[in-house]
Amino acid sequence: MTTPEGSMVHGPKAMLTKLPSVDRLIHTPIGARLQAEHGPLFVTRQARELLAQWRADLLSDPVPSRVTSLWQDNADMTDAIAQALAQRCAQRLEPRMRSVINLTGTAIHTNLGRAVLPQAAIDHVVAMMAGPNNLEYDLQSGRRGDRDSVVEGLLCELTGAEAATVVNNNAAAVLLSLAALAGGREAVVSRGEQVEIGGAFRMPDVMASAGARMVEVGTTNRTHLADYERAITAQTALLMKVHTRNYAVQGFTASVSEAELAPLARERGVWLVTDLGSGSLIDMSAYGLPKEPTPQEMLTAGCHVVTFSGDKLLGGPQAGLIVGDREAIGRIRKFPMKRALRLSKLPLAALEATLQLYLRPDWLTRDLPTLRWLTRPVEQIQAMAQRLCAPMAQAVAPRFAVEVVSLQSQIGSGSLPVDRLPSAGLALTPVSAKGVGRQLDELATVMRGLPQPVIGRIDSDRLLLDLRCLDQAEALLVQLPTLQAQLGARP
Ligand SMILES: *Cc1c(COP(=O)(O)O)cnc(C)c1O
Repeated sequence: MTTPEGSMVHGPKAMLTKLPSVDRLIHTPIGARLQAEHGPLFVTRQARELLAQWRADLLSDPVPSRVTSLWQDNADMTDAIAQALAQRCAQRLEPRMRSVINLTGTAIHTNLGRAVLPQAAIDHVVAMMAGPNNLEYDLQSGRRGDRDSVVEGLLCELTGAEAATVVNNNAAAVLLSLAALAGGREAVVSRGEQVEIGGAFRMPDVMASAGARMVEVGTTNRTHLADYERAITAQTALLMKVHTRNYAVQGFTASVSEAELAPLARERGVWLVTDLGSGSLIDMSAYGLPKEPTPQEMLTAGCHVVTFSGDKLLGGPQAGLIVGDREAIGRIRKFPMKRALRLSKLPLAALEATLQLYLRPDWLTRDLPTLRWLTRPVEQIQAMAQRLCAPMAQAVAPRFAVEVVSLQSQIGSGSLPVDRLPSAGLALTPVSAKGVGRQLDELATVMRGLPQPVIGRIDSDRLLLDLRCLDQAEALLVQLPTLQAQLGARP
């Protein structure tokens, strides 16, 4: 800054008196246009806040350069401030939740919203939310209905269950099942399944929240049928099984399957409840994917209640699905806590449409994005990487070099991290060996700042873009000019 010190102080301060009033600002041509578009209340408020900020900026020491540069370059301050007002209004109306491009290589990414809804579900949600619907209204009798009936028939048909109910998510499904079936009594769980599923959802805490007394049996690595047998008393209400796939105890291990526990549960008159986590309604191994236990198998094995998520492998909205024995589900449904955990009409519509896709299993890999991504042939992903390589190289040159690489995708959301799917993508490497980490952070930041943010992953000295979950290369191609400009604009 070459301006003499005196004018640095006087200049901005003097500007204070030249700031337009709120009234003048909102009646400039730009202000008037903004009012016509957004209404006077919103625009007036933004103008007031903007001017307050300018006043604070002009009084601060040193004065921020974004203010001094405007003040030096623009003779007419009102015009410059009106433009700032337009920018502020636009920014203020930008949603916090944004659509992003998931190139992390994790197909079901909890931080990126888990399963992507099938088009059929999106359409059904839009159609149902646009007006009233028969959420709790029986169109045949004209009387009050039950929202569970929207999906109960489908869930029973698809899983072979006698009854089904749905709640907000699987954590709620576990909590509600425990509270309804074991509140004030004992629930037996193996020490090998004493797990934290993430986000402070730990089995001992869930049991406590449900008002059930947890009885632990076995050891971390080995639990036997006799351990459960010995633990059952007159106070026991249920046996709980938890299927965690996000970690594995290896080596000298033993656990008791649902099929082995079922006769014991029936003989002693206690419920057998299993939390499947990521329950898939289809046999994943038929698609060359790691085998996942299905709710059907668990019910056949003799479980009374099976809970699983709607937005993991099922590929639908966030929901907790509870299927099983008519009496057990009846108790769960009538339990007062159900009212607090119930599914709203929005995900319920999405869930219905998603479940309906399972009636036509032949089209699932086409219609269900989650399954489409998980089963996408690696050759197809490679071909997309080949196509994107040169345009990407041009956009990030000369600072980064780009090459097509073989990668390993993950299923995500509670699946075993060692279950990898062969994939392909682009590796972006800094050309200069100086400050590689900083350069990669900067590149990742610019990618996240694109109109549709692109999320990759940094792996030692490269930024990796796994293309498994990119349906259309165009989504990335259209953003390359912006990427190039943003990278070029940085020193
Ligand atoms: C993911 C998971 C949960 C929690 O399910 P949400 O639908 O995220 O609430 C509970 N139990 C297991 C075993 C899980 O894998």
